[in-house]
Amino acid sequence: MTEQYLQAIRKRVCVRCIDTDGKGNCLLHKDEICAVEEFLPEIVRSIQQVQSDKVEDYVVELRKFVCTECRHQTEDETCIVRNNLDCGLDRYFPLIIEAVEEVDLARKSA
Ligand code: SF4
Ligand code: SF4
Repeated sequence: MTEQYLQAIRKRVCVRCIDTDGKGNCLLHKDEICAVEEFLPEIVRSIQQVQSDKVEDYVVELRKFVCTECRHQTEDETCIVRNNLDCGLDRYFPLIIEAVEEVDLARKSA
């Protein structure tokens, strides 16, 4: 199940990412892990809580379900990785929403 979401994200997001080889293969160092991979089940659940045409509504849930679990977010809810545009999840979140909702739609209409 999670694999389907990951494949959809690889196709739609990772191919466009600045940290990829252009074919969707992640080039982050082995000791770095992208939040997309680290928190995929939580990301999917946070997106499924929302039905809105405003990305801000999804961001509220993302911060609540994912960023609070992430070691990069501080107690005042800031994140230096996000502020430096170094979080792939945050950078491409609108595309990630599309990928997750596409999988869910395909599943509903199957
Ligand atoms: S950094 Fe994240 S979004 Fe970018 S290619 Fe790697 S896994 Fe995908
Ligand atoms: S925006 Fe920051 S706190 Fe949220 S997932 Fe990315 S690195 Fe973690």
